Amino acid sequence: MTGKANREEAWRPATRLVRGGTERSPFAETCEGLFMTSGYVYASAEEAESAFKGEFKRYIYSRYANPTLTMFENRLAALEGAKICRSTASGMSAVFAALLAQLKSGDRIVASRALFGSCHFIVSELLPRYGVEHVFVDGTDMEEWRAALSRPTTCVFLETPSNPTLEVIDLSAVAELAHAAGARVVIDNVFASPVLQKPLRLGADIVVYSTTKHIDGQGRSLGGAILTDDETYVDDLLTPFLRHTGPSLSPFNAWLLVKGLETLELRVARQCAGARALAGFLAGGVGVARVLYPGFDSHPQHDLAMRQMTDGGTMVAFEIAGGRDGAFRFMNALDLIDISNNLGDSKSLITHPATTTHERIGPEERARLGIGDGLLRLSVGLEDVEDLREDLMRGLAAAAK
Ligand SMILES: *Cc1c(COP(=O)(O)O)cnc(C)c1O
Repeated sequence: MTGKANREEAWRPATRLVRGGTERSPFAETCEGLFMTSGYVYASAEEAESAFKGEFKRYIYSRYANPTLTMFENRLAALEGAKICRSTASGMSAVFAALLAQLKSGDRIVASRALFGSCHFIVSELLPRYGVEHVFVDGTDMEEWRAALSRPTTCVFLETPSNPTLEVIDLSAVAELAHAAGARVVIDNVFASPVLQKPLRLGADIVVYSTTKHIDGQGRSLGGAILTDDETYVDDLLTPFLRHTGPSLSPFNAWLLVKGLETLELRVARQCAGARALAGFLAGGVGVARVLYPGFDSHPQHDLAMRQMTDGGTMVAFEIAGGRDGAFRFMNALDLIDISNNLGDSKSLITHPATTTHERIGPEERARLGIGDGLLRLSVGLEDVEDLREDLMRGLAAAAK
């Protein structure tokens, strides 16, 4: 630990988000530098030889490490309270690397069924090709977790709150069962963001993000991150996997993301306040069959959500009584909120999961996950909440026709 790292550890979260991980170049720039370089040069042949032997730490090649990426990784690690962070080119490359780095033929993975579509594909279609057995459970049913984890298991993978129904899973309880079965717990913490939920403190071993969502939060870049305190996992499994398969984040995107972190806490707090207000408005709306918002005591796992998260989140799911036609009329009547499958953006976005993000899984699986044809998912942005409320009123009026 250097003196600099000790100083940073004493900082409170808001300070860490603005200054954590900053490494100034000899030009003494105020803003974090954008090191748009693939390689690095050596003063002598001896220095190159010694660097490759690992006799001292320096940058060798940007597939391994890059100063702008290091600044982003150290700042996100400080926010998460994790020892180690590795960035990747997208959220999916983070999920893929976090899982594939540790799984091999003959291993077993237990996962919650309510996963992001591409995560579902990795677990149910890709991993079986490599001889990894998978079991899906209903994430909210502890008996299903207990039964699935009564056998030795390599890895547990889950998402909480889940997409799009905002189901909340008891992380500490699952982690206890997983550890007893010999498994590492990997959690996709995208919906809560590192501001609202710290899974490592609740027993998870590895946290993954799509930084494309709240961390960039302004719709500019794809990116991902893997965070953990498990040095053995990183040294023996993750680092070689990343180095030799190369899902590296672009320095330009890392630079956008390190600047994104500076305002993350402010944005998420404002988005949560907006989500709470709009969820309340929708709950009283004519033609709204139900509203799912973890911050409300009407949410089936509200108490658990409030133990695990510091606020209700930036996402609201709600069911329009008029089914698919009503939901489509609602979306098409909106004048401000954009129709988009993205989330966590400064612009409010709305999605019809049954015909887009969750179309592929089919009607049976959708029914099992509670994704009805009238379900809409709203990602609340940074606009004035009154403008958003007026827009939702337009949607409700059209849906009721
Ligand atoms: C978006 C998302 C991902 C994938 O991230 P990309 O950056 O799009 O690759 C994974 N999990 C969840 C929960 C997401 O919302």
